[in-house]
Amino acid sequence: MTGPGATTAGTKTALGKEQDSRLEAALAAAPTSCLVGGTWRASASGASFEVLDPASGRLLARVADAEPSDALAAVAAASAALPAWSATAPRQRSEILRRAFAEMVARQEELAVLMVAENGKALADARSEAAYAAEFFRWFAEEAVRIEGRLSSAPAGANKIMVIEQPVGVALLITPWNFPAAMLTRKIAPALAAGCTVVCKPAEDTPLTALWLGALLEKVGLPPGVVNLVPTSRPGPLVDAALADSRVRKLSFTGSTEVGRALLAAAAQRVVNCSMELGGNAPFLVFADADLDAAVQGAMVAKLRNGGEACTAANRFYVEEPVAEEFSRRLARAMTHVKMGPGLADGVGLGPLVNEQAQQKVSRLVDEARAAGARTLVGGKAPDGPGWFYPATVLVDVPPDAEILRTEIFGPVAPVASFVDEDEAVALANDSEFGLVAYVYTGDLARGLRVSERLESGMVGLNRGVISDPAAPFGGVKQSGLGREGSHEGLAEYLETKYVACSW
Ligand code: NAD
Repeated sequence: MTGPGATTAGTKTALGKEQDSRLEAALAAAPTSCLVGGTWRASASGASFEVLDPASGRLLARVADAEPSDALAAVAAASAALPAWSATAPRQRSEILRRAFAEMVARQEELAVLMVAENGKALADARSEAAYAAEFFRWFAEEAVRIEGRLSSAPAGANKIMVIEQPVGVALLITPWNFPAAMLTRKIAPALAAGCTVVCKPAEDTPLTALWLGALLEKVGLPPGVVNLVPTSRPGPLVDAALADSRVRKLSFTGSTEVGRALLAAAAQRVVNCSMELGGNAPFLVFADADLDAAVQGAMVAKLRNGGEACTAANRFYVEEPVAEEFSRRLARAMTHVKMGPGLADGVGLGPLVNEQAQQKVSRLVDEARAAGARTLVGGKAPDGPGWFYPATVLVDVPPDAEILRTEIFGPVAPVASFVDEDEAVALANDSEFGLVAYVYTGDLARGLRVSERLESGMVGLNRGVISDPAAPFGGVKQSGLGREGSHEGLAEYLETKYVACSW
């Protein structure tokens, strides 16, 4: 349980020799211990927890189980590294981030295989996540040298108003399992660009990717203590301890609204600066004037990317009545062509869900919708094990009050309902406490823009099923979050504005 190359559990699979050796190599590149102040070490208690392969349930590795005291040691290390890192020339910070980008691109396949192993996603999804995650290093390498203030004359003319931007300080970064690389680089890259140092707490299902990233940053020359990593199986006490420490000035969290709400309350005790990327319940609107083939193609991506385990996943499909049946039929047909299986196996487009609870939740939502009158066009039943699979599923005639339309499904299930006109479509879409992203398909651009303005969401995909881009401000309204990641806004989350009244 030391640095990179630490031995992991036996990794023989039913995939064949070639895939087994790629898996073995990826696992060997991921450390299994905490990273504190540049040292890879066991947790204070010496305990460890298991990381499992969702496609088979077998053990992949045991990872150090950090304690609250480890988090405090990590905070101390980040705090000690802060003065030098924040004073490091922006160009130098930028170049380290740029090297991290290059190294990630060079090792994209290794990272992709590692993510398939611990998250279960199909290899194609893992490859695109690895590329997307690397892009945050490139984007924020470019942003690091563009941190600007401003100077103006006070209206009364007595003095000048100087505004400067400074790093917030030590940032606590908490990430989910669904995009284990991208959700972390989307935070680490802007934090480092701004001059902050960080303590990262990855999700318990997928700590290996985060540890792999820590080793990569070390390799490209990041000074010790700038990035610290504390994996744990008991996040509550560890995060509480870190948040109670006055050296922590920033919390950036990506995960469920439920946990986000609790963390906001905890952060309020010390008025910690918070960025929150929380749950979604994306509506996918299809108007009768839309190009239906394009809408089905967009729906396939918006629904099945990452097996439906994405905060941006289309969760509720609302289709204008005249085309609702045809759209559902074409969507169901497209879904029958998706091959389900272990993420590394040839031709697989849909891997398993992340764990048993996820599979049970999706099964329950589908069963309840069916009991309330929904019909299944395709899928709808979890196969026998091993692994936590659920097939691509289309449900039609879903009653408007069904829980599946209100809850984040986080699985490859598309419930379809119909609407009669634009006002009803907007009302249905906005009838949610979430507001992360919404999708609109229409052949009438004026309608598309009008509806985009009326939708209560932080992001809209207009005739597009994918919206994520490091150069775009990602984030939600309502209970989907506070703040933005990516783009220029993503850097601002790690900067504090200072005003200096000056006379000369
Ligand atoms: P989760 O809230 O259960 O966990 C997220 C993180 O919080 C994990 O690291 C977990 O260990 C930690 N955590 C859990 N309980 C905690 C506690 N009591 N105190 C402190 N930390 C705690 O979410 P998840 O199941 O890992 O991820 C799925 C959720 O994340 C979905 O709701 C999804 O929509 C959301 N998500 C949002 C975005 C976005 O950008 N808006 C992106 C990806 C995922």
